Amino acid sequence: MNYQLIPKDLRPIAEKVEAQQRISETDALALYGTNDLNALGMIANVARERKNGNYATYIHNRYINYSNICILSCQFCAFAAKKRDAHAFEYAIDEIVQTVRDALRLGVTEVHMVGGLHPNLKKDWYLDLLRRLRALDSQLHIKAFTAIEVRHLAQRVFKMPIRDTLETLREVGLGSITGGGAEIFDPVVRDQICRGKETAAEWLDVHRTWHSMGGRSTCTMLYGHIETLAHRADHLRRLRQLQDETGGFTGFVPFAFEPTQAHGTLSHIKRASAFEQLRNLAVSRIYLDNIDHLTAYWVSLGLPLAQVSLSYGVDDLHGTILEEKIFHMAGATTPQQQTIAALEHAIREAGREPMQRDSHYRHISPRQTSAMLATSAPAEFAYATLAVIPSEVEEPRCKTHS
Ligand code: SF4
Repeated sequence: MNYQLIPKDLRPIAEKVEAQQRISETDALALYGTNDLNALGMIANVARERKNGNYATYIHNRYINYSNICILSCQFCAFAAKKRDAHAFEYAIDEIVQTVRDALRLGVTEVHMVGGLHPNLKKDWYLDLLRRLRALDSQLHIKAFTAIEVRHLAQRVFKMPIRDTLETLREVGLGSITGGGAEIFDPVVRDQICRGKETAAEWLDVHRTWHSMGGRSTCTMLYGHIETLAHRADHLRRLRQLQDETGGFTGFVPFAFEPTQAHGTLSHIKRASAFEQLRNLAVSRIYLDNIDHLTAYWVSLGLPLAQVSLSYGVDDLHGTILEEKIFHMAGATTPQQQTIAALEHAIREAGREPMQRDSHYRHISPRQTSAMLATSAPAEFAYATLAVIPSEVEEPRCKTHS
């Protein structure tokens, strides 16, 4: 690192990072306070390249939101609906299975599935869904349910302890749980953006339990609303603590609050700037020294900014997704999917080496799919042709669940 390019007040922190020493919460706040984004990027890049070299990964995945009907009404959420609402939706298991079957023909390796806290779906519905997805392809990784959904299932649906609920879900196909629902851990902020939602301790405990069972998961942070920088540093500290304890987090995925459809006390908030999003990613990379991967969620950042973030600590561009609803119901104007070609082009142009990964961020070769073999076409072509098949379900046009 060229210390001449690092402002004096950040040099002690840069020296710690270079010496592989852990930075403190106070250091994190100092990093959040700097306007020298390039210096911050240089420091983050040291941590990024030490962990991941020049590789930048992506996953070929398919998002599924099985229903947006939810018993909660988080203030930041434009995705959830009550049953009577015009934009409420709920897919039948057959529809979901068909969607995933189509996605498998495109070579996806993961289905990522979350929904609202549904008031009526029964235990058998969830188990049947997972069983049928598992039966489609034994290699498909089923990443499903936020910690909030897991608690909902345990308490209100399965009526079982968290561990037994997770064990039951795993027996029928669950591969890993998602990182959503963390928002910002501070209880005062939580009360203002998602009143009634599980506490930080409850969110962390679901992941702790899953990790103790040998499971892996990702973790998230929803920022850029009413939280302070100290709240963000506190959030990162709690994640780092749990990771010290369990080692079960594979990656961290921060995303900015999407304010377009916000209502009530959050309606005045402006979207986090590109500068702020890069700064937050870089600070996260430097602080979370025990989490191997940092994902730029292009749905929130947009692919152009996600590409730039590869120089600010990021080593992963998430995935193809194929159909994102949550941010788009909140007003995101980014595309709802990416092609492998677009992700790889973005990575190469940024001077990194693209690599497809699995759900645990391990490098893999693309799957040979029936569609590719039938057309003898390159993966991107097969993907592009099939990706325009209209969704088999009429989508309500609107949108946001984490
Ligand atoms: S964020 Fe999740 S739990 Fe909260 S209202 Fe939206 S769907 Fe429901």
